[in-house]
Formats: sequence, structure tokens, C-alpha cells
Amino acid sequence: MTITDIQNQIKATSARAVVENSIKLARENEQYHAILNLTEERALKLADEVDAGKITGKLAGVPFLVKDNFLAFGAPTTAASKMLEKFDAPLQATAVEKLEAEGAICIGKTNLDAFAHGGSTENSAYGPTKNAYDQSRVSGGSSGGSAVFTALNVVPFALGSDTGGSIRQPASFNGVIGIKPTYGMVSRYGVIAMASSTDTIGAFATNVSDVEMVMDIMSGLDPRDMTTMSDFFQVKTDAKPGQKIGLIKDFMTDDVDSDVRAKVNEYVEKLRAAGHTVEEVSLPMAEYALAIYYIIVPAEISSNLARFDGIRYGHRAESVKTLAELYGRTRDEGFVTENKRRIMIGSYVLSSGFFDAYYLQAQKARTLLINEFNKLFASYDLLIGPVAPTTAFKLGENTSDPIKMYLEDIMTVPASLAGLPAISVPAGFSQTGLPIGVQFIGPRQSDADLLALARSMETK
Ligand code: GLN
Repeated sequence: MTITDIQNQIKATSARAVVENSIKLARENEQYHAILNLTEERALKLADEVDAGKITGKLAGVPFLVKDNFLAFGAPTTAASKMLEKFDAPLQATAVEKLEAEGAICIGKTNLDAFAHGGSTENSAYGPTKNAYDQSRVSGGSSGGSAVFTALNVVPFALGSDTGGSIRQPASFNGVIGIKPTYGMVSRYGVIAMASSTDTIGAFATNVSDVEMVMDIMSGLDPRDMTTMSDFFQVKTDAKPGQKIGLIKDFMTDDVDSDVRAKVNEYVEKLRAAGHTVEEVSLPMAEYALAIYYIIVPAEISSNLARFDGIRYGHRAESVKTLAELYGRTRDEGFVTENKRRIMIGSYVLSSGFFDAYYLQAQKARTLLINEFNKLFASYDLLIGPVAPTTAFKLGENTSDPIKMYLEDIMTVPASLAGLPAISVPAGFSQTGLPIGVQFIGPRQSDADLLALARSMETK
């Protein structure tokens, strides 16, 4: 289901009919638990305004979904936590505002790992989302709900956030396209912060052109997010011919599922057949990427989550006697186990006794990783490899072992730490019928080139 299909339906019927149909599909697929709240009333009102000609734009009447860590009107913004269970956003995220300015209509808020901490959507305080291809398996995460309802054609596109893989990995697990743009390409304003130095805003869709259109609308400078850049994203008509591509061999070891390696290798052959050169390259710092990520990200999380103290907004524990008890009980009740684990790790690595040994070392190692990427991009247009070492795993399979869960992120966190654009593109299916994605990683601001290449390969 593409944006163009939807636009044709709107022309043939009405925006209201199309939005109603999307909402109906969301209800019919309730068993996937991809949505936390619909924004039905507001969506239908907007659809009527499109039909009355009061709202126009490139996406007039096109329904979409947003991950529930984006501030958006029409339903609470919960971040899938109890902390924000009844939180009504006082404003909308810039990304949502920009899409609405083009007439797109948000029909609901999708499930995620609470505060986006996770890679399976099992850390949601409201229960996990199920995989679009096998309901006994995870959706991936943390943007699991957005990926699954894009895959099931409930909406033509959905928004997610990617701090260490949360768009790319669920895209791979559900057979859709997902992009994590260059850090700073899309405003983070109004998206609940996880790790401010790697948070990015991106989208899921079933074809590359739709992703390009949505990213084109969302990108650009925002005075309310000082890390945004002036708009460099411009959709390319064609992919550059004869590109030089590096296959990251550190991601193609025996530890990686053979089905995953096979599909990536097949994709490499298709790239070669299309006239591109693919050579194996090595990214030795990749071995340390997880260690770096799981120091820096919890550090930033512990700082960003400090604001949820039971006083300013959100959940507040009842019948407490002291201020310390208010903070303690509120945070205990409002956060899930994974949130607490990260707050504790983050506070530890930032503490005066361990700051030099962990946080500072991790920042230095991060620079070494960035340097390695830069060196590779001096000779290669882009790098490719798998998105994750496995296909979607069984619900509950990794929940008791946080390290095992973190290991799933090994291939997505390097691009995040370096602020690089990376996309996940469907590359086929495992022998058991589960989707497998291939990841493209490019130099900063090469987002449009990565997408153009992916588009040129869609029919191959
Ligand atoms: N799975 C990664 C983590 O748990 C990525 C999360 C994300 O990108 N939001 O940190």
C-alpha cells in the first residue's frame, strides 16, 4: 500500500472514507498490539476538513501513525510507560507538525519499549507488539508498533525514533523500509529524549519513494532543536552509477545467522550485477561499539529521565510522607525494569569515582570509531551489511538476559554513535519465512544517495 495508492483512493472516495478504513484496519489487527491509542476523533475532524478543501498539501488526507514517544494531539503521549500514562501533550513534535502542514493525518500512537529502551517492544509497560509475519515472535524495537502496522498496510507510512537501531531493526524484522537519517537532519523537538547525542527521527514505509517523500517533508533546520542542520536532503532522480561499496566483514562472521548472511550475500550479487563494485572492508572498532553505546547511552538516559520526578508532570506516587519517598516511589512505579537498569548504569558511569574510567574512555573510543568510518568513506561511497545478527526472535526468548538482548544491537549502534545515515531495506526471507533486511550506511548527509540506490535496486 503506497502513498500514491492512498491518494488515488482519496480521489475516488474521500479522505474521511480512507481515514475510517485505516482506523478499521487498526481495530481488526488489534491482536498485534501495535497501537496504544487511536486519535480517531481528531483524525476524522481533519479528514472532513480535507474533504471540505480547508486543508491541502502534498499528503492531504493520507493517514499515518506515530510512535508514542512523539508529542502529538488527540491521545495521551505515554512513551509506553506508566510515568506518562495520562500525559496530554501541550504541543506537537516538529516532525508531526510538518507532516500535518502537508495535510497528513495521524490516526494513532504506536507501541514501543518504554522510553524507547529496548530492541523488541517487550519493555512496553502495556505489553509487547507481535511480529507481522509470526505472532509468536517479537516485532523488534523499540519502534515495533510503527513497523508492524506499516507491514500490515494499516497505514502507508509511520514514524519512529532510532537511537541505536530502533527503526532499522524492526524494519528488518517486519520486511519494510526504515531510515535513520543523519543526526540533525530531522528535528527532535517534541520527541521524548532518550540519548540526545544519538536520537534521530525517521520513518517506515513499504517502498523507497514514500520514505523519500516523508523525509523530504520532515527534514530541515528547526530553531527549537539546535542540533538541526539547514535542509540538505534532496530526493535524487537516479542513483549514481558504478558505486564503490564496502561490505563490513566484521558483521558477516559465523556468529551471524546463516540465513541472514545468505540474503546479504545475494543482495551483494545483485548490486554487482547492477554495475556496482562490492569489496570486503573491515571496521575493527565495531567490536567495541556495543560497549561504547551501553556506557554513553545510559549516561544520557540517566540525565534525560531525571525530569520525571513526580512533581513537574506525569505520574506521582500517592500517600508518601517525605520528599525522598515521593521521588523514590514515583520513579519505582513509573519506570519499567529496563529504564531503571539504564538509570543505574548511567548514574554509575557518570559518578565522580568512575567518570574517567568509563564515560570519558567511551567518548574517546567513540571518536576512534568515527575516525574508522571516515577513513572507509574516503574510499567507499557506502557500506553495507546485515541489520541484525538474527531474524525476529521468539517472544520472551531474550527477556531474562539483558546482555543477550543488547547483543542484537551490535550492527545498528555503530552508525548511531557516528551520527551517520543508515537504512534498512528488505532483502528477502529466511527459510522459515521471516523477513531479513540489509543495511546501507553512508557518510553524513548522504541520506538521499542511500535512498536513491535502494530505489534503483527495488525491482532487481
Ligand atoms: N535496542 C537499542 C537500545 O536498546 C536501540 C534503542 C533505540 O534505538 N531507541 O538501546
